[in-house]
Amino acid sequence: SKIRLHRVLPFSKRLISETVLSGETVVDATAGNGNDTLFLAEQVGAAGKVFAFDIQEAALVATAERLGELTVRTTLILDSHANVDQYVNEPIGGAMFNLGYLPYADDKTIVTKPDSTITAIHKLLGMLKKGGIITISVYDGHEGGKEERDALLEYVKTLHQADVHVIRYELLNQRNNPPFLIAIEKVRDFVEVVQI
Ligand code: SAM
Repeated sequence: SKIRLHRVLPFSKRLISETVLSGETVVDATAGNGNDTLFLAEQVGAAGKVFAFDIQEAALVATAERLGELTVRTTLILDSHANVDQYVNEPIGGAMFNLGYLPYADDKTIVTKPDSTITAIHKLLGMLKKGGIITISVYDGHEGGKEERDALLEYVKTLHQADVHVIRYELLNQRNNPPFLIAIEKVRDFVEVVQI
């Protein structure tokens, strides 16, 4: 039978697949090994575009390899997602974040950080279409993870309820520090995010 209460990563993909249209521009804020980049490239189709960010060259190399011929609809950017507005100058249909460290990397101390994560979300919310969703998979098991989690939860609670709906989704019976999901849906058009 069909699973409805998905684990976090499949659930985030379901939200994106229900809202991103083919031909749209989308953002993978944390390319890593390219799983979400590939998924996004498939969602937007041949007429769409994916901007994928990572601060580690090894991640972008792995992502390019993962994408294969779908690299043509993807722009890989070796820079922090906090600078997203320097590269993306058009409305976006959605964005995905997968926080923490690069799986399989030698150096697991290179992790996403509260300030740049929140700056990127803030900028992407301005670019997001009405009805679009930003998904953020949050891991809090590593060094610095709890600080990022708490800063993020504090930030999303300041977003105005008339502008966005924010949910937290998690499975309560999984072992070994599973991620939880924060998803933000833009429910009315705005360019600047209002914080309360
Ligand atoms: N979604 C990826 C996948 O499918 O493999 C996994 C992403 S991994 C959990 C997090 C990634 O974020 C790492 O590759 C790390 O280098 C990257 N990262 C850390 N800080 C960043 C920043 N400021 N801007 C962009 N990427 C960043």
